[in-house]
Amino acid sequence: MTPATEKVDVLICGSGSAGLCAAVWLARFGISYKILERRDGPLKIGQADGVQTRTVEIFDSFGIAEDLLKEAYHVLEVAFWAPDPDAEAGVQGIRRTKYAADKETEISHQPHVILNQARLNALMMGELGAAPPVEYECEVKGVEVDEAAAKDADAYAVRVTAAKGGKDMIYQAKYVLGCDGAHSVIRRSLGFKMVGDSTDSVWGVMDIYPRTNFPDIRKKCVINSAAGSILIVPREGDSMVRFYTELPEGTKVSDVSLESLQSHARKVFSPYTMDFAETFWWSAYAIGQRRADFFHRDFRVFLTGDACHTHSPKAGQGMNVSLQDGHNIGWKLGMVLKGLARPELMESYVLERERTATELIEFDRGFTKLFNSKYREENGITPQNVAEQFVKAGRYTAGQAVRYDESAVTTIGEHDKEVASRVTVGMRFPSAQLVRFCDAKAMHLVKGLPADGQWYVVVFSGDLAQPEVASRLKEISQSLEQTARRFTPAGDYPDSVIDRVLVIASDRTKVEQEEIPEFFTPVTGKWGMKSITKVFADDESYNSGHGHAYEAYGVDPQRGALVVVRPDHYVAKVAALSEVDSIRQFFDGFLVPTSQS
Ligand SMILES: Cc1cc2nc3c(=O)[nH]c(=O)nc-3n(C[C@H](O)[C@H](O)[C@H](O)COP(=O)(O)OP(=O)(O)OC[C@H]3O[C@@H](n4cnc5c(N)ncnc54)[C@H](O)[C@@H]3O)c2cc1C
Repeated sequence: MTPATEKVDVLICGSGSAGLCAAVWLARFGISYKILERRDGPLKIGQADGVQTRTVEIFDSFGIAEDLLKEAYHVLEVAFWAPDPDAEAGVQGIRRTKYAADKETEISHQPHVILNQARLNALMMGELGAAPPVEYECEVKGVEVDEAAAKDADAYAVRVTAAKGGKDMIYQAKYVLGCDGAHSVIRRSLGFKMVGDSTDSVWGVMDIYPRTNFPDIRKKCVINSAAGSILIVPREGDSMVRFYTELPEGTKVSDVSLESLQSHARKVFSPYTMDFAETFWWSAYAIGQRRADFFHRDFRVFLTGDACHTHSPKAGQGMNVSLQDGHNIGWKLGMVLKGLARPELMESYVLERERTATELIEFDRGFTKLFNSKYREENGITPQNVAEQFVKAGRYTAGQAVRYDESAVTTIGEHDKEVASRVTVGMRFPSAQLVRFCDAKAMHLVKGLPADGQWYVVVFSGDLAQPEVASRLKEISQSLEQTARRFTPAGDYPDSVIDRVLVIASDRTKVEQEEIPEFFTPVTGKWGMKSITKVFADDESYNSGHGHAYEAYGVDPQRGALVVVRPDHYVAKVAALSEVDSIRQFFDGFLVPTSQS
């Protein structure tokens, strides 16, 4: 029998963190897509749990952070424990060496939290509409790209074979995402290899309800004892706790039992007592520090997440980096398939995420060594050194150290730092508190940049009370208006491709609405109303103090600044107000001008 064939613009293979995050964007852009998943339904329990501040920011930009923050454990402090030198001979013991803040305040306005991966997946799934297009119990078997057809942007050049309920299926797609985890069939089918360590380290993980007199059981703890190391991660709900253990070299996953993990934990915690009232979930899994040798085929099939990088769970990166791969590629596909951006935009996914994966593996190699007692002994690394390194790695482990290289969507200028000294092109746009002009609400600037697929030009105008500042803003607005119109399809809302935000350095009570150029108050949305929510003042608020945003962004109010922010909130470009024409040139580099222009 001829297998059933289905056509879809994007086929996502795997409904894990990477696949679902990409799907959220595609749903927002209204792209035709389908997810194939071998499981019989959504992930129910287990796997990763650490949610970096960057991932919380992403959920917030999608408008789905509230439940995440409400349900999660918030990590505020880390306790470090080491062998107790005063323990009596022959008696093993541990003592606390240090407490440290889990996150420096400036790293993010969002917290680092812990929540089950299944719950995060469910929150993303909730954004895929009433009937998410997921084909469960569907096993992907292989993928092929028709190289000649791939040259035609509109061709369904990729063919995926799959099987469901004993029946073969064929999918023809324009783009395919291999989000099918560490044993990716898509990767193997393309003949790509994982390169890096040849040996896998084996990790034991258990979610347990402990009965213990260990005092820091509700804190994130790094415990290095003579009997081995354990990382404690308290779980949501005030009772459950997760223990991570790296098992000795040579351990096979099949050798690991729950009893062996529990007995190891009792030894590490000695002399404190450790009983297990209940084990909710446990697992042992092997992991190597490796990345795929290629991330794409003909820029039509892309690998994401564990399918292209694997590493230890020590720094809580796995789910986050995977989800962020999906976040990086989803909006790009959305823009290309809507005809707003040229297909070459997809090349930036590979440039950006290959580097991120390489850096992640290098970081993980160094970080993992800190937990290896043999390595510490041989290299004279003290418990104090371990604690210091752990704290130093804070920005990285928060997901805030990612910096993308120069590309069509990230252009680095020589004078960027003179214009906005605390904004870095290629890194995510930081947030600062402002007061919204229309309703006096104190809010973080990024809250005014919802992730619906549009680009943002953030204009730091200076103080509108100064006549020269006001007239300069008028001129800039005219130029930006033309730029936005040039790339907005006829009939679409004026802010749907290039949105705008104005940040004034004024006493907001002395500014009147009519002084704000109309570019910042476009008539938009289904009711055709004038939008007045895009203007903010760097001013004192009634109940939340002053955010000092110009200072936080390093912008001189006399000079002002233009900052272009990508749909995923990475900084694309910084320019002086006098360089407003360069904004149009920037967008010309990858957007498709419309017939309106
Ligand atoms: C058992 C286990 C425990 C883990 N524990 C931790 C942890 O404690 N902490 C941590 O940080 N990380 C942990 N990880 C790693 C973490 O879960 C991953 O880094 C993260 O889930 C990667 O996301 P992803 O979307 O790339 O892949 P996944 O979340 O693995 O999603 C891949 C999806 O693809 C589906 N799939 C695979 N093959 C096919 C196919 N042929 N056809 C159709 N569907 C397919 C899978 O069923 C799955 O739903 C664990 C991983 C595993 C497997």
